[in-house]
Amino acid sequence: MVMKRLIVVGGDAAGMSAASQARKRVPAGRLEIVAFERGNHASYSACGIPYWIGGTVEARDDLIVRTPGEFRDNQDIDLRVRHEVVAIDLHARTVTVRSDADESTLGFDHLMIATGATPVSPPWADVDFGGVFGVQTLDDGDRLASWLTPEVRRAVVIGGGYIGVEMAEALINRGLDVTLLERGDQPMSTVDPDMGALVRDAMVRLGIDVRTGAEVTGLTGAGGRVTGVTTEAGEVPADVVVLGLGVRPNTLLARSAGLPVGEHGGLLTDLRMRVPGHEGVWAAGDCVETRHLITGQYVHLPLGTHANKQGRVAGINIGGGYATFPGAIGTAVTKVCDLEVARTGLRERDATAAGFDFVTATVETTNRAGYFPGSAPMHVKLLAERRTGRLLGAQIVGRSEAAKRIDALAVALWSGMSVEEMTALDLGYAPPFAPVWDPVLIAARKAAEEVLAADR
Ligand SMILES: Cc1cc2nc3c(=O)[nH]c(=O)nc-3n(C[C@H](O)[C@H](O)[C@H](O)COP(=O)(O)OP(=O)(O)OC[C@H]3O[C@@H](n4cnc5c(N)ncnc54)[C@H](O)[C@@H]3O)c2cc1C
Repeated sequence: MVMKRLIVVGGDAAGMSAASQARKRVPAGRLEIVAFERGNHASYSACGIPYWIGGTVEARDDLIVRTPGEFRDNQDIDLRVRHEVVAIDLHARTVTVRSDADESTLGFDHLMIATGATPVSPPWADVDFGGVFGVQTLDDGDRLASWLTPEVRRAVVIGGGYIGVEMAEALINRGLDVTLLERGDQPMSTVDPDMGALVRDAMVRLGIDVRTGAEVTGLTGAGGRVTGVTTEAGEVPADVVVLGLGVRPNTLLARSAGLPVGEHGGLLTDLRMRVPGHEGVWAAGDCVETRHLITGQYVHLPLGTHANKQGRVAGINIGGGYATFPGAIGTAVTKVCDLEVARTGLRERDATAAGFDFVTATVETTNRAGYFPGSAPMHVKLLAERRTGRLLGAQIVGRSEAAKRIDALAVALWSGMSVEEMTALDLGYAPPFAPVWDPVLIAARKAAEEVLAADR
């Protein structure tokens, strides 16, 4: 029996899911698995970083799912941290790896590319003083945590996406004065502006100074430390700056090797996560583009949920099994203190860009029976296709168990239900959990009325 070798580039969600699944199917005597991770940590939850910085998660090491030692002892996977793959030769089927100690070349039968994403960092963020942080990796989190000494009082978060919003919460929970600067009209552009306005109001009530339409032009520093953020409207003083400006697929290595990327710069794969035209080359996670099941177009959806699923699919296939990743519909949840925000499917601008004619319906109701302790307002917005009434998208802003209702809406969307069909869904009811008409049903009823009214 010939021993084969799988090389994994990137030791986090997608890469190590693939490695684990491949190992489940093929024993160590038949497949050697070597994973290279350039950072100090592998297999950890980046999603947990804001909650550790904010103090909800006490111990940083709780974010580490599995150590290299555990991979070696339990699964015979040779995971090497502080090892960067610097070149791929597809013709020779080798990778070149650099560590502190040396540079070496290793052959592969299967190559799993799981290099993740790179944070967007404008030229003005390239400064030679301290106190400016991204939060992409646990190493970034470590650097930020050690900067947050008691004399650091004023924080500025640049970018109002979900990472910016989660970091604003984390820093306010640590007792800092927090300003959030967002270029757009509202924070949380992952939902429509009317729903983003609700997020903004809640953030302001928490004491976060939210400034929208704020275009950052530079950073100022003195004595080796950041002192402020310059915007077109003036300077905002800062002892620490956190960047949350989005991410792009990290594909420089793959592109240099000649692998194809799509419109958004992510690697293109088939349903089994193979890179087409390159036998034995696989890719998954934040470095790939994913097919959006509602529009049929390729998009970049850098989320842990997809990275884990795609990595698992690749690993099953590498191990000789059969699995596919059909695509995604853009479901995501987040929170800012007790305000929960969720979405699935298309926002208004996505539906318009895709060419849909659609109606919208927004309802304000409560998460529980109105008389039940803990009852709080909840907004649900639905988009439905005109004529057919097919659900195209949903957004929720509310408190206490509001956000996870998006899962019911995601299933309805995934299965192509119309809002009329949804009005009859058999959803659970008891006063501690929902009003007698669940917010999902109330929203579906209103959307069904709008669909009828649009063609009357
Ligand atoms: C603060 C934060 C909060 C988040 N919250 C959520 C959330 O709530 N829900 C959600 O679904 N997603 C969330 N995400 C996104 C989620 O963490 C990512 O989608 C997920 O980690 C992607 O997994 P990945 O394996 O594709 O990439 P990554 O986790 O980025 O791992 C890629 C790894 O590859 C390594 N690497 C890159 N190039 C090389 C090379 N040449 N050689 C060796 N190693 C290399 C990198 O160091 C990195 O460790 C969050 C992300 C962040 C940063």
